[in-house]
Amino acid sequence: MSYVRGLKCRECGQAYPEKGVHVCETCFGPLEVQYDYAAMRGKVTRESIAGGPRNLWRYRDLLPIHGEPKVGLHSGMTPLKRARNLERVLGVRELYIKDDSANYPTWSYKERVVSVAITKAIELGYDTVGCASTGNLANSVAAHAAEAGLRAFVMIPHDLEQGKVLGSLIFNPTMVRIKGNYDDVNRLCSEIADKYRWAIVNVNLRPFYTEGAKTFGFEIAEQMGWKLPKHTVCPTAGGTILPKIYKGYREFINLGLVEDNQPRIYSAQAAGCNPVVEAIRAGRDLIKPQKPKTIAKSIAIGNPADGFYVVQAVKESGGWGEDATDSEIVEAIKLLARTEGTWTEPAGGTTLAATIKLIESGRIPRDESICVCITGNGLKTVEVVVDQLALPESIAPSLDAFDALMADRGTAVAAVSAV
Ligand SMILES: *Cc1c(COP(=O)(O)O)cnc(C)c1O
Ligand SMILES: [Zn+2]
Repeated sequence: MSYVRGLKCRECGQAYPEKGVHVCETCFGPLEVQYDYAAMRGKVTRESIAGGPRNLWRYRDLLPIHGEPKVGLHSGMTPLKRARNLERVLGVRELYIKDDSANYPTWSYKERVVSVAITKAIELGYDTVGCASTGNLANSVAAHAAEAGLRAFVMIPHDLEQGKVLGSLIFNPTMVRIKGNYDDVNRLCSEIADKYRWAIVNVNLRPFYTEGAKTFGFEIAEQMGWKLPKHTVCPTAGGTILPKIYKGYREFINLGLVEDNQPRIYSAQAAGCNPVVEAIRAGRDLIKPQKPKTIAKSIAIGNPADGFYVVQAVKESGGWGEDATDSEIVEAIKLLARTEGTWTEPAGGTTLAATIKLIESGRIPRDESICVCITGNGLKTVEVVVDQLALPESIAPSLDAFDALMADRGTAVAAVSAV
C-alpha cells in the first residue's frame, strides 16, 4: 500500500507523474512528492511504525516507493544518544546527539537519501545511477549500487580527502574527478542527466532522494519516545536535510504521532562557505552564491540547490543560523570525541561548534531540549586532525622502559605489593 500521489511543482502547483524529472517545465520550480495524508490517518500509527523493520524502511508509508525496498535494508536506525558529559561541559540540561556517523554501510546520513533514490531508480527501470558529490554521497551511491547490481557513475571535485575517494573506489564505480568545485560538478551533472538516460540521484531523482532525509527526523522523534526536541541544529550543504527533518517533524505532528512543541531548527555552516547562514542573518530569502574555502568539504556548496527552503524552514520554525571557523570546527570534533566517544568529520564539528555559539549567544536556552545532528564519520577525514594529535614516542617492550616513561611524565609510580 502506497500513499504517494505523484509529483507537484512547489511554486506553481502543476502536477507531474512519478518519473525522473525534478524541475517544472512551466516555471522551473522544484518538484515535490505528494502524499494522501488523509488516507494515512488511523493507519500510519506509532504501533504500525514500531512494528516495522529495524531500518529506515519502517517509515516506508511516508516514503515515495510503491513496491518493496531494494536497498538500504540495514541503513538508518542509528543511535540517538543522551550526551550527559557534553551537557556538563556546555552547562545545558538536555542534549542529544543523533549519530549518523554510525550509519551503514558508508557512515553518513547519505544512506537515507540514497536508499530511497536507488529503490526508486529500480522501480522506474533505470540500470545506471550516478551523483554529483562532495564525497559522502559518492560513497553511498557506489556501495548501494554495487549491492543492487547497477552501474554507477560518481562525479566529484578533484581535491577531496583520501578517505572519501577510496571510500568510493573500493566499490568499483566509474569515478569522474572534475577540475572544479562542487558547484561545477553539479552543473555538469545537470547536463549529463539531460543527455544520458541515467538516474542521477540528486539531480533528476531529487524529488524522491530528498524525501529519504525525513527519516533522520522521524528517528529522532521515535527514539526520544515519540517526542520532539525543542531545538535541532543541522548542517547545511545543498540544503536537503534541514528542511526535510523539519518536514518529518511536521508530518508526525499532523498525523498525531507527536505533540506539537513548536520545534525550532537551526542551520550550521562553515564560515568559509556560509551562503545560507549569511542570508538568514541578513533577513534575505535569496542566497548569494560563494566560492567555498573551508576544511568542511562535505558541506562546501557555494550555491545550494535548496538553500531557499532552508531559510524558509528556519524562519517558519523560529530558528536561526550560525557558522564556525575551521579552528572552531576542529576544536568541536575533538570535544565531541573526548566527551562522548563519537568521532565525527568536519560537518559534525561545524554543527557542534555552531550549537555551542547558539547556546552562548542565548539563541538556544540552556534549559530546553537540544538535538545536534551528526551526519558523517571522522575516520574519512583524518587530514583535519593529523597535525593536532601528537604521536607518542615508542618504547622497548620492557617494564623498565614503561617505568621510565611514567617517571618522565611525572606520574608517581606506586609500588604494587604482591598478594
Ligand atoms: C551531504 C552532507 C550534509 C548535508 O547536505 P545537504 O545537502 O544540506 O543535505 C551534511 N553532512 C554531511 C557529512 C554530508 O555528507
Ligand atoms: Zn511550476
